[in-house]
Amino acid sequence: MEFSSKLLENAVDEMSQLPGIGKRTALRLVLHLLKQPEDQTKKLAGALVKMRENINFCANCHNISDTKLCEICANPKRDEQIVCVVEDIRDVMAIENTSQYRGHYHVLGGKISPMDGIGPGDLSITSLVEKVKQGKIRELIFALSSTMEGDTTNFYIFKQIEPYKITTTTIARGISVGDELEYADEVTLGRSILHRIPFESSLKSL
Ligand SMILES: [Zn+2]
Repeated sequence: MEFSSKLLENAVDEMSQLPGIGKRTALRLVLHLLKQPEDQTKKLAGALVKMRENINFCANCHNISDTKLCEICANPKRDEQIVCVVEDIRDVMAIENTSQYRGHYHVLGGKISPMDGIGPGDLSITSLVEKVKQGKIRELIFALSSTMEGDTTNFYIFKQIEPYKITTTTIARGISVGDELEYADEVTLGRSILHRIPFESSLKSL
């Protein structure tokens, strides 16, 4: 792509670093911003910088939060002994939208994926196992997407906590294998949380 302006080229280069944004889309977005009042771009850039500088992760569940403890962990009406293991904040949002779940979450920050160089040490697994060890959890619900990476991650965690004899379940899916949680409709996802099944029985069906 030949640019008549270095400034334009830089902006397009930066924009195209985002996932799913190729050079063409980046150019379209940058040109769109140029057509908007200058204030609009300042607001966008300001919101991004402010978010990046001040973002916080909940000390208990690792969910993105503006406070030390997220609203879910800080809510005394929620059952802290039931913990749903998810990949990221999108899953928390999807499950919260169902209004069917009153426990806590544990946000891993990804899935084990040797292909992408992501190992167990890159995820917040140690703090989860620690909570189980300390007897703080009576049920762990696995709610990662049923991809190979999701299954690998579930199994890895399951092996770590197996000696502690807590209840482990997995969300019963009306969702077909490989679907991401965030795309499941609220009713299906809500139902699959209510009708969760023992984790070990899901292993046998593999
Ligand atoms: Zn939290």
